[in-house]
Amino acid sequence: MKYHIWTAGCQMNVADSQRVASELEKLGYRYTGNYRQADVLVLNTCVVRQSAEDKAVGFLWSLKPIKEAKPDKTIALMGCLVGAKGGSKLAKTFPHVDVFMPPSEPGPLVDYLLAQASEQTALAQRHKLQDEEFSLVLPLHEKNNLVTAHVPIIYGCNHVCTFCIIPARRGRERSRPVGEIAAEVRSLVAQGVREVTLLGQIVDRYGYDVPDGPRLPDLLRVLDGINGLHRIRFLTSHPNYMSDELLDTVAALPKVCEHIEIPNQAGDDQVLKHMKREYRMADYYDLIARIRARMPDVSIATDIIVGFPGETEAQFQRTLDTLAELKLDVCHIAMYSPRPGTVSAKLLPDDVPLEEKKRRLQAVNTLQEEIVSDINATLLGRQIEILVEEKQRGRWRGRTRTNKLVFFEDASDEDWQGRLVEVEITWTGPWSLRGKLPGQTPIKMTEAELILPLAAA
Ligand code: SF4
Repeated sequence: MKYHIWTAGCQMNVADSQRVASELEKLGYRYTGNYRQADVLVLNTCVVRQSAEDKAVGFLWSLKPIKEAKPDKTIALMGCLVGAKGGSKLAKTFPHVDVFMPPSEPGPLVDYLLAQASEQTALAQRHKLQDEEFSLVLPLHEKNNLVTAHVPIIYGCNHVCTFCIIPARRGRERSRPVGEIAAEVRSLVAQGVREVTLLGQIVDRYGYDVPDGPRLPDLLRVLDGINGLHRIRFLTSHPNYMSDELLDTVAALPKVCEHIEIPNQAGDDQVLKHMKREYRMADYYDLIARIRARMPDVSIATDIIVGFPGETEAQFQRTLDTLAELKLDVCHIAMYSPRPGTVSAKLLPDDVPLEEKKRRLQAVNTLQEEIVSDINATLLGRQIEILVEEKQRGRWRGRTRTNKLVFFEDASDEDWQGRLVEVEITWTGPWSLRGKLPGQTPIKMTEAELILPLAAA
C-alpha cells in the first residue's frame, strides 16, 4: 500500500506532512513519488496567498476523475484550506474527498484508515501506533539521508495581526509537552538527523498557554543535552516575547545557533499600529541591540510587507531606512494582498496600486542584496564550521551556524553528510558562500558563476 503527500506553503506545513507520513509509515504504508500510484493521497494546503489557494483547488479538481476511476483510493485534504473547524462546508464542494484534516492533525486520516482495515489488521496497526507514539518515523528514502528536520513545538496563534489568516485557520495556541518533543527529537537523531528547527507561529511564546509550564529556554536546555544532535534553531519569533532570559540561553547553549528570525513587517509606527503588531519601532531597535550585545556574530532574518493599506511613500521610506540602519542578514519580503477573513481585508482599502507595490518590493530587494553582500564579504578568508547536508551536482553543501549556505568540493570518497566540517571561505556572494577544506584548492568558478547568485545557477 502506497501513499503520496503533496505539500504547499510554509515550514509548518512541511513539518505537518512529515507527521502524516510518519503515521502512515507506522500503519504500514510506503511512500511513492507518483501521486497517481498512491492508495492514499494527501493534499496539505496553504491559503496565505490567493495563488497558493488556487493551486490547491486546481489540483483537487484534477483528482475528481482519478477518484471516479478508482473509488478505493483515499483522498485526504489537510491544512489551512480546511481550517481549524474541519471540512463540513468543503465536503459539499468536493465530494470526492474522503477525509478532511485541520492543520497539524493527522488523526482523522488515521481513524478513517483504521475503520477501513479488517479487524485483525486494524488491531496490529493500533499496537504499532501505541508502541511508537512519540517517535517520528521517516520514510525509507529519508532515513539516514535527512540531516535537518523541522519539529513543531507550538501550534496556532493568539495574535490578530490584521493581515494574517493564520489564527483563523490554525486556531488558538497549543504547546506540545517537553517530553513529547524530546522523544521526537531523539527518534529523529536515531534516524540520522543532526539539526532540528523548532517551529511555531510565535515560537517564543512556547509554554505561555500552560500556567507555570516550561518556556522556550527550558525546552532548549533539555534538547541541548541530546547526544548526537549537533544544532538547534527555532522560528518564527515575535519581538514582544524575546526575553533577556531567552537571549541569554541562546547565547549560552552550545547547540543553539546564533540565528534569529524576528519579523519587523514595517518600519513605521503608524503602519505597525494598523497591522496590530503590538510593538513600536523603538522596541524593535532595542531588541536588535539586545540580541547583538549577547551574540556579536548573530545572523538576523526579518519579514517585511510592502504596500500595506494606506502605506505612504514616506512610511515606506522609513522601512528602507530601518533596513539600511539595522543591516540584517535576510529579509523575506512580500507584497500585501488582502486575504478574505482577515481584519485588513474587511476594514482597510487595498489602496496601494500593484505597480507601486512591485516598485517597493524591488527597492527592498536591491537594498537587501547590497547589505547582505557586504555582510558576507566580511567572512572571506575565515575558517567557519558548517553542517554538511548533501552532495549536489558534485559539490557538498552545508550551512553555517548563522544559516548561510556554503558549497565546497572534495575529490576524495569521504562521506561528509551529517558531519560538522571546518571550511575556509574562498568566495562570497549575497545568496551563498564557497569554501575549501583546509589544505585543498578552492572551487573553480566560471565567469558567469561569479556574477550570478548561486541559488539561481
Ligand atoms: S503573529 Fe501575526 S503574523 Fe504571525 S501567525 Fe500570528 S497573527 Fe499571523
